[in-house]
Amino acid sequence: MGERLGNFFPSHLDCAPMSESEAKVSPALGDMNAEEFRRHGHKLIDWIADYFEHIEEFPVLAQIEPGELKSQLPTAPPQTGESMEQILRDIGRLIVPALTHWSPPSFFAYFATSTSAPGIFGELLSAAFDNKAMLWRTSPASTELEDVTLDWLRQMMGLDAGLTGIIYDTASVSSMHAIAAAREGVELRIREEGMSGRNDLPLLRVYASEQAHSSIDKGIITLGLGQRALRKIPTDSEFRMDPKALAAAIDEDKRAGYLPFCVVATVGTTSTSSIDPVPAIVPICERYATWLHVDAAYAGSAAVVPELRHVLSGCDRADSLAVNPHKWLFTPFDLSVLYCRRLDLLRRAFSLVPEYLRTPEQEQVRSGSDYGVQLGRRFRALKLWMIIRYFGQEGLASRIREHCRLAKLFASWIEESSDWELMAPLPFALVCFRACPNFEGVAAEVLGARLDVLNEAIMHGVNATGKALLSHTKLNDKITLRISIGNIRTGEIQVRQVWELLNEQLRLLTQKKTS
Ligand code: PLP
Repeated sequence: MGERLGNFFPSHLDCAPMSESEAKVSPALGDMNAEEFRRHGHKLIDWIADYFEHIEEFPVLAQIEPGELKSQLPTAPPQTGESMEQILRDIGRLIVPALTHWSPPSFFAYFATSTSAPGIFGELLSAAFDNKAMLWRTSPASTELEDVTLDWLRQMMGLDAGLTGIIYDTASVSSMHAIAAAREGVELRIREEGMSGRNDLPLLRVYASEQAHSSIDKGIITLGLGQRALRKIPTDSEFRMDPKALAAAIDEDKRAGYLPFCVVATVGTTSTSSIDPVPAIVPICERYATWLHVDAAYAGSAAVVPELRHVLSGCDRADSLAVNPHKWLFTPFDLSVLYCRRLDLLRRAFSLVPEYLRTPEQEQVRSGSDYGVQLGRRFRALKLWMIIRYFGQEGLASRIREHCRLAKLFASWIEESSDWELMAPLPFALVCFRACPNFEGVAAEVLGARLDVLNEAIMHGVNATGKALLSHTKLNDKITLRISIGNIRTGEIQVRQVWELLNEQLRLLTQKKTS
């Protein structure tokens, strides 16, 4: 099996055979010396450069069975150190073949994302500095660079100056913190007394569309609000929250004695990238005095493109907004930003300074750990700062603009073909579609199920080639395929190639069925 795994690793990327004299194990004490570090570091950077140069030779989806990697690894740790050559060789031989590669330009699944060279350098430096930005003094650089970089990003997205940013790992965590701040704002002493065992608390309600990301449900579960606290609002034919239904739901809940305290709107939903009508949602939130959080994890980055800035219209009146540079700003995972108008509430919800963390300057500075559950925080701002400086706003905008152009091109092929149909509008660079060939003689009652089976088979067929990766969703109860274009390397060639792969699968599967 090891050999089979090894076969997936292009030989030119294999680490040079180890020479006994070169293969040094760790010293008895202390770290690797500078000379060794330099030698391995240069080799590793060369290896990464080769990896990207040959990225299209790797199967996008890992071609291994569950448990296959584990069965190749020793079950007990080594008692004595091994040489870096041995370790790197195993990375090539065992780890790389077990990767689903997110960097190939034919990665179209979920939301296609990608790292970038300045982002990788930022990660490398951040690991070298190893700062724990819990207090200003434990990393003034991280704390202050985060403020500056997030203010740059705010300006690039055209967001209101009243929104201040803070970095978390993921949008799930950003949104959870936003809901916690909203809850702090209802003045029910939940921080101090919790929610359990209290008869004086009404049912607290959060509203999000039925297309909202599952991270909102998880945030509510984590905060102890309970799943019944989340009321899902229906969407229209284009998968956007229905504001009238929202107002009616809040009204009904208020009459029932519940406490509506937060509405989550999504700009760029996960299934279709639809945009909830924030300008119509804002007055409802104002009328009922609820916090408005906008989940723009995917599509917020599009506002960096001047002609797409309108997608955030209304968001200047939101209380908070989450955006993920690790989704569509070429930032290595992870980096999510929460912009919040009421940082004081976020701080009230989370700040807790024991004696051993007290510092003389604490009243003058902003310390990251005051705004979330984490104490130590990674120096994530560095990579985003380097990315923004390297590409500039125009460079980032042109890449996102090109992704949107490619998605529209792909959609135009779908529209021109009688074998395929679009399943949702495409405001950004995500195309939702399905095969719908003319199945003559198939009864209407079974046609839907037949198309679902066909589309799943097409997706698995394309993915099994290793030449591209796409994913699916269900829209109006129909299996829908998704092509998301967001990788920094994706060009028209790969988009044409996946279109051919899809048609090839369709031909294969429909011929087999009819013969
Ligand atoms: N919100 C939306 C709209 C998303 O599409 C996603 C993930 O795709 C998330 C939130 C969760 O993102 P993360 O993985 O950063 O928690």
